[in-house]
Amino acid sequence: HLPTVVIIGRPNVGKSTLFNRLVGRKLALVDDTPGVTRDRREGDATLYDLKFRIVDTAGLEEADAASLAGRMRAQTAAALDDADVAMLMFDARAGITPLDRHFAQWLRQHDKPLILLANKAEGRAGETGVAESYELGFGAPVQISAEHGEGMADLFEALFPLL
Ligand code: GDP
Ligand code: MG
Repeated sequence: HLPTVVIIGRPNVGKSTLFNRLVGRKLALVDDTPGVTRDRREGDATLYDLKFRIVDTAGLEEADAASLAGRMRAQTAAALDDADVAMLMFDARAGITPLDRHFAQWLRQHDKPLILLANKAEGRAGETGVAESYELGFGAPVQISAEHGEGMADLFEALFPLL
């Protein structure tokens, strides 16, 4: 039985891109349109010699429970409950937004091992966002580029002791 890791974060930060990279197949739909992942998607991930189950989520937004966003939110909460480790991803190029703070606040209410992931950190465009992220209270983020495959060794080092 593989341990389960869930990727959480606001739309468009790169969750599905990381999911696809770790699963090695295009199971998750990547799109520039925020919130395009409608369903929770799961796959078997490989990161060097680590094997785990990975769950891609759609996003957690404030909305009526009957709406699509409400269902997406319920799915995210269920995915978190089922996971052994949560990864909160933000867009280091965009910096910390109110929705990122909202996710951080929400995750603080859960007793789940957490890795903070600064995605889109290739080059230097992510430096300000990385500095801003300390305000979330989770310490130093793991800096990655899901698209370019950078930071995967650092992600391994962060995940290894938690699985
Ligand atoms: P999601 O909504 O969080 O699942 O985000 P997606 O994986 O669908 O990605 C949203 C957009 O960000 C797409 O245009 C991706 O190509 C882009 N993206 C994802 N990862 C990176 C990255 O590491 N660097 C850059 N520059 N763009 C990325
Ligand atoms: Mg997605």
